[in-house]
Amino acid sequence: MESQHSHNQLHVIFLPFPSPGHMIPMIDTARLFAKQGVNVTIIATHANASTFQKTIDTDFSSGYSIKTHLIHFPSAQVGLPHGVENLKDGTNSEILGKISHGIAMLQDPIEVLFQDLQPDCVVTDMMYAWTAEAAAKLGVPRIYYYSSSYFSNCAYHFIMKYRPHDGLVSDTHKFTIPGLPHTIEMTPLQIPDWLREKNAATDYFEPMFKSEEISYGTLYNSFHELESEYEKLSKTTIGVKSWSVGPVSAWANKDDERKTNRGHIEKNIGKEPAELLNWLNSKQNESVLYVSFGSLAMLGDAQLVEIAHGLEDSGHYFIWVVRKNDGDEGENSFLQDFEKRMKENQKGYLIWNWAPQLLILDHPSTGGIVTHCGWNSILESLSVGLPMITWPMFAEQFYNEKLLVDVLKIGVPVGAKENKSWNSISVEAVVKREEIGKAVKILMGSSQESEEMRIRAKKLGDAAKRSIEEGGDSYNNLVQLIDELKSLKKSKALGEKTD
Ligand code: UDP
Repeated sequence: MESQHSHNQLHVIFLPFPSPGHMIPMIDTARLFAKQGVNVTIIATHANASTFQKTIDTDFSSGYSIKTHLIHFPSAQVGLPHGVENLKDGTNSEILGKISHGIAMLQDPIEVLFQDLQPDCVVTDMMYAWTAEAAAKLGVPRIYYYSSSYFSNCAYHFIMKYRPHDGLVSDTHKFTIPGLPHTIEMTPLQIPDWLREKNAATDYFEPMFKSEEISYGTLYNSFHELESEYEKLSKTTIGVKSWSVGPVSAWANKDDERKTNRGHIEKNIGKEPAELLNWLNSKQNESVLYVSFGSLAMLGDAQLVEIAHGLEDSGHYFIWVVRKNDGDEGENSFLQDFEKRMKENQKGYLIWNWAPQLLILDHPSTGGIVTHCGWNSILESLSVGLPMITWPMFAEQFYNEKLLVDVLKIGVPVGAKENKSWNSISVEAVVKREEIGKAVKILMGSSQESEEMRIRAKKLGDAAKRSIEEGGDSYNNLVQLIDELKSLKKSKALGEKTD
């Protein structure tokens, strides 16, 4: 079926970066643009598109002007098997290097495609610094899609500018991040290594942040009441326009089928959502802890053992998502015995590889989450008013932890100390069972501290829901951005006529 878009309709290209934490929110955002009457084209390679195409087809059949433009991933040229096109498949540095090389090779064909498709605007992931210039060549606005918090962007900005960690005698000494409205202390070990000391990654990330400054503006999957002070700070210090249009997952995936399928990468090993829902239905409200470390982080055997004991010792119910690359490729016999025991005593439910996260978080039995502080998982938990145990691991996750614990006061830290690449597996456990058990007891217990956290999280959940309703802040921001882009298109057309 051909979509029925007219020449006058605003045409926006979305270019997602191939990792679930970047792709999922951008696809949701693209769908929201289409629902506001924009003609949307998403550019993706085959294997990546297959994770969201069903949803796009459904939207298209419902009359929205949205489609995917498929491009070929150069698997053979970079020496990768067919279908390995996403960062989550980069289970070792060699494969990851090849995937990154393949992604870099897409620049030329994508630039040609931009020329062919002649969009009115391109919304591109933060990771594609080169799109700022590509859009300038086309004479259209590039919108920088930042897939994390205003808070983390401000923290990055001030740490890069003032380098407060440089003079410290040790990597474990604390420094205060300059320029922020709250006193936020961190250690050099908690910031990404490329920022601690210059390395090859610095040459990638610095231009990436710089490309925001020459973009038309930035889209945030956030909402006004969550981090308004940091929204203001970012606008004044980074100096680009920005729009909060989140939480996009709650906005774009309102029904259960969407929640089950959203971002679904591979089949769960052996478990159907119905079995999971039965298990959750059998538990009391807010009694289950959901434990997930996102789509990339890999944990070693020793850490898995500590998590298992920590959860079991806490005495609380839990659902734990174990990735197949964790430990010994899912062959881990300790975990298999553990799973069996938890099944028998009904205390815990293990999900291998990929969980229907939105469905679990939205269930009334779920009462909290252990999170690696990936921004999407945070927003998805916040959207349903859940407090969190924070266990940051890599990238900007340690900043997000500070936002949850020190600013919003809805997080219990587990005590993570070191920012390490997501694919470097520690032989030793970095967090011990006692620390895990202690944090679980605080979060899931009935102390005043926990009650107050729960209340604050619920209030934020209500604010999140209001922001995406018609007339809410995020809703209005999206409408306003689209109007602005339409006006730009009109004035450009007028300019071309009078030239
Ligand atoms: N996700 C999911 N099921 C899983 C693991 C992850 O649905 O088993 C989704 C999760 O809901 C979120 C995204 O994948 O939308 C992960 O993004 P996040 O920013 O939380 O972390 P990352 O994977 O980038 O580290």
